[in-house]
Amino acid sequence: MDLEANADALMDGLQADLERLAAIPSVAFPGHPQEPVLQAHDLVAALLRDAGVPVVERIDLPDTAPVVWGEIPPPEPDAPTVLLYGHYDVQPAGDPALWLSPPFEPTPVPGGLRARGIADDKSNVMAQLGMIRLYGGRPPVGLKVVIEGQEEYGSAFDAYPPTDPQRFACDAMVIADLGNLRPGTPTLTTGLRGAAELTVEVRTLAEPRHSGLFGGAAPDALLVLLHALATLHDADGNVAVPGLRRDPWEGAESTEGEFRDLAAVHDDVPLLGSGPLGGRLWSGPAVTVIGLDAPAVDQAASAVVPYARARLNLRFHPLQDPHDALDALARHLLAQRPFGVPLTVTPGDTGPGFQARTGGPAYRAAMTALREAWGTPVSFAASGASIPLVNGLARAVPQAEVLLFGAMDSMCNLHAPNERVLLSELRNTVVAMAAFLREYAAEHRAATRR
Ligand SMILES: [Zn+2]
Repeated sequence: MDLEANADALMDGLQADLERLAAIPSVAFPGHPQEPVLQAHDLVAALLRDAGVPVVERIDLPDTAPVVWGEIPPPEPDAPTVLLYGHYDVQPAGDPALWLSPPFEPTPVPGGLRARGIADDKSNVMAQLGMIRLYGGRPPVGLKVVIEGQEEYGSAFDAYPPTDPQRFACDAMVIADLGNLRPGTPTLTTGLRGAAELTVEVRTLAEPRHSGLFGGAAPDALLVLLHALATLHDADGNVAVPGLRRDPWEGAESTEGEFRDLAAVHDDVPLLGSGPLGGRLWSGPAVTVIGLDAPAVDQAASAVVPYARARLNLRFHPLQDPHDALDALARHLLAQRPFGVPLTVTPGDTGPGFQARTGGPAYRAAMTALREAWGTPVSFAASGASIPLVNGLARAVPQAEVLLFGAMDSMCNLHAPNERVLLSELRNTVVAMAAFLREYAAEHRAATRR
């Protein structure tokens, strides 16, 4: 079968359906109407049914939007089964004034379309649908399709797969909730950093005291806190907390120029840390101060500040144990005692990272497929963000190979204003998914004959 020609032939229809789906404001956050979320669910289910998926069900779980479940049995008894994951809910649009066009009116941009969620993750839902259409509903492997409806807001789905491992049983899974390092560079994401949060507090006085009468000897809680926070990094901006794992990064990475653009760093501001960017973003730790309670400047009184606290967000190596990582940060802070003042540390939520096992038949098949689709060899990257569901699925089906690729690219403004997707990336992802199933079926056939 000529995958490329067939993919080109179905792009008009796929683009029209992507626009229909992206026009639905399926935001599953509190305070947003549930109607559009259910509408997006129903549209995805109907599109899968129309594409020839014989089993399309709805999984209803407490505290989460309904999950679309589709199943195509293997074409022959010893063909492998591949699980495909995506989500139909989207981030809130944020301030509409920052958008160049209404966020839920898909609008053409050079080479693509702009709308909230049109990349994350509706493009990947459509890539899966396109691949199923390309095979007329009869792919060369068995398929299980999981399209979640509350990925962006505290899904209860993350914990579900391990409670029903039989349902999720498969040989490989494609987690299509990310994409390429840059447009045109096919990318397999092999690692995701773990995440944790912690609150650090300082109390020095029972209440504020006149800074003229008491300042100079009465300890200022904010100053104490700032001294403690200042020890988290060395002079170059590298995390200086002992016990946080840092490995050299050996895969592909953004150039410093690309990264500065993506991060919107001001021209006169240097980047933090030293060494290759991959080590700073993916295979090493990051500590970010994400909140600070202290008197606001506009309400500032001339008084010694008696109380201050900060919320820290920690990102750590994909293979470091979350509790080890959080302990290392807490120990470091508790050891500080700036000016002899003790700090109080309250650990928060943790989420593990993920490291894919590469080198198996599904990885070989994916490398061939992505090179075929984009016409250039695959890059291996990681992501500083975490996808908690990946761990839930990997625990449910520990022997399955986990592949992370998709139609987004690092310049698609996901979670930001003016999100966009490139149609060339969508088309190539359809080809890549189709070629992956063909290659994987062949690898599997060869292996069982051996
Ligand atoms: Zn997503």
